[in-house]
Amino acid sequence: MGTVAENIEAIRARIRAAAERAGRDPDSVRLVAVSKRQSLAAIREAMACGQRVFGENYLQEAEEKVAALGQGLVWHCIGHLQSNKARIAAEIFDCIETLDRPKLAKALEIRLAELGKIMPILVQVNVGGEAQKAGVAPKDAGQLCRELQQLSHLRLQGLMTMPPFAEDPEESRGYFRQLRLLGEELTAQGLLGQHGPVQLSMGMSGDFEVAIEEGATLVRVGTALFGER
Ligand SMILES: *Cc1c(COP(=O)(O)O)cnc(C)c1O
Repeated sequence: MGTVAENIEAIRARIRAAAERAGRDPDSVRLVAVSKRQSLAAIREAMACGQRVFGENYLQEAEEKVAALGQGLVWHCIGHLQSNKARIAAEIFDCIETLDRPKLAKALEIRLAELGKIMPILVQVNVGGEAQKAGVAPKDAGQLCRELQQLSHLRLQGLMTMPPFAEDPEESRGYFRQLRLLGEELTAQGLLGQHGPVQLSMGMSGDFEVAIEEGATLVRVGTALFGER
């Protein structure tokens, strides 16, 4: 494991190479640096390399980091959110990737309306149908998207997923493809794509290259960038 600066350079090169292999524009893939349980110093090292987008899982931790590091960064919520924490989430995040139920959406809408803030969101899809994972079932994603369209402070931009854990990244490929196809289907139905190109957040340290080959526009990388948590 190198320094954060070395790691980030290597990840950027791997992102570019994966995009080129897939015949995609490397600039169509954004790196979300997953900074959960990492220090402010580590985040500052990434910032010094020009990294601006960070992903956080835990609300209290995110709140402290946003307060300490302040403006100019883009904070993505990638962890499970409780509806009763919607007020803080609405305040501190710039994108919520884990919208998976109407109750949470409605709670966020109320808080965002109070703040006069528009929140980009992704619908989290449980592609593997795992009982222990959050996310809407693929078959229910369309209905959730339809409900989200009614909420004027939520800007639905795409889908996010975390497939079942696998040692071999090739085992994730089918799930990533499934998310892309679901995105295409929902777009064809007029349920996605109203706010620009559909975003697909998929791929982590172990499998982000496969995810890019399958269409990821956001990759969420923690360990490969910052080291073990
Ligand atoms: C922790 C986490 C990541 C990053 O995982 P790494 O394997 O450390 O890259 C990505 N996405 C979500 C939702 C996470 O919780």
